[in-house]
Amino acid sequence: MNREINRLLNFGLQQGLIKEEDYCYAANRLLTVLKIDEFEPEQVEEVLPVADGILDKMLDYAAEKGLIENTANERDLFDTAIMDCLMPRPSEVIAGFKADYAQSPELATDNYYKLSIASNYIRKSRIDKNVIWKTATEYGDLDITINLSKPEKDPRDIAKAKLMKSSSYPKCLLCRENEGYAGRANHPARQTHRLIPLDLHGKSWFLQYSPYTYYNEHCIILNGEHVPMKISRTTFENLTQFVTIFPHYIAGSNADLPIVGGSILSHDHYQGGRYTFAMAKAPVEKEYSFAGFPEVQAGRVKWPMSALRLTSENLQQLIDLADKILTKWRGYSDEAVGILAETKGEPHNTITPICRRAGKAYQLDLVLRNNRTDEENPLGIFHPHANVHHIKKENIGLIEVMGLAVLPPRLKENMALIAEAWLSGKESIEDNEKLAVHGAWYKEIKAKHPEVNADNVESIIKDEIGKVFMQVLTDAGVFKRDTAGMEAFDRFVASCQ
Ligand SMILES: [Zn+2]
Repeated sequence: MNREINRLLNFGLQQGLIKEEDYCYAANRLLTVLKIDEFEPEQVEEVLPVADGILDKMLDYAAEKGLIENTANERDLFDTAIMDCLMPRPSEVIAGFKADYAQSPELATDNYYKLSIASNYIRKSRIDKNVIWKTATEYGDLDITINLSKPEKDPRDIAKAKLMKSSSYPKCLLCRENEGYAGRANHPARQTHRLIPLDLHGKSWFLQYSPYTYYNEHCIILNGEHVPMKISRTTFENLTQFVTIFPHYIAGSNADLPIVGGSILSHDHYQGGRYTFAMAKAPVEKEYSFAGFPEVQAGRVKWPMSALRLTSENLQQLIDLADKILTKWRGYSDEAVGILAETKGEPHNTITPICRRAGKAYQLDLVLRNNRTDEENPLGIFHPHANVHHIKKENIGLIEVMGLAVLPPRLKENMALIAEAWLSGKESIEDNEKLAVHGAWYKEIKAKHPEVNADNVESIIKDEIGKVFMQVLTDAGVFKRDTAGMEAFDRFVASCQ
């Protein structure tokens, strides 16, 4: 292990996790974690982008010596404990961030993001295994990701989670108390986690990166308190303030109701980052004007979901109008298109808001959501319908709304097996237990693509999955993209006047 400890210390120095003065201290901390008594410094001549190779050797050693049981979770807990030996204290990270920010907001986030990767808090090699591609559609190039770095969640569990009394420590995965937490069998290790404090309108918030990185510099902006998600005027104020502090980032929030919300409804948080989603590129296809808001440009976005885009340099007018639309939508019903604001006292209407800068101006996309269910659609009426569940049946949260599909890991194997069946000329795949769910879709795409061959089969399947995602988003749209739906959209806008 002496060699590996030397290599890791060298990595820490190169990445700026530790400084020369920290060398002995960090070496001794590594000895403690690895239960080794002696150390001999050695010269190391190598430059590594990530520490994985070294950590793997240390984990094998720990398993061999009985320091851990050789399971995936114990390995993840232990390699975090190892990297913790090289971590700067939170106050040092914050001081560095502030000094960088004084030069430029980009420099501050660049260095903070690099730290999050170097520390293995973002397990970059694992994220690099995700299968990603783009599919061209009438709404632009949608992003598709088969997520191979995080397990799937069932929407019903998510709904139940909202009702759960918080009693454990940390109360949830987003609480700031995770910073430095060693983790346990049912909670990830967070010793390498560092938070940046933010003041949003006098309230304590924090910035962190998502350990799952669904897109470039995917960050989370979390409330200092463990309070439930709530879309309100404050959300618009906070999102616009965040993009004032970080003009190169976008920020959005999941909605605050089950089915149409994200995976964690129990802790108020937003997500942001440095990425241009398909939705941001989608044009306004119809302009609206709102009386009393002369400085706000408003319009309907050409997007499969139902989105109003507000753009203005006048923040007061922008927030006032967004708040007015939210309040109106909360109580809005239009039975002709199946929209009911409430049933049996349960509210159904909410908004998924997204905020970005457009030069000096601010832009808010307000995506109208409704979470009603009925017998035909027990998972949600404005939710992926049964015929697309074979690709996606999970909640359509903020990231999907913006045009990035996060698809379950099983699809990777499914795609390979479908390609194999197709090329071998199989008429049906329903006899295959793993593929049966794709049976009807398989026949459909097979009929559509007589040109299939070994060279293009993978790209055809990927493209067809992308088109299913477009249908998923269309299903989640409250106003359908037909004449009746677009007239209903106009009726809602008129009701806001
Ligand atoms: Zn929490």
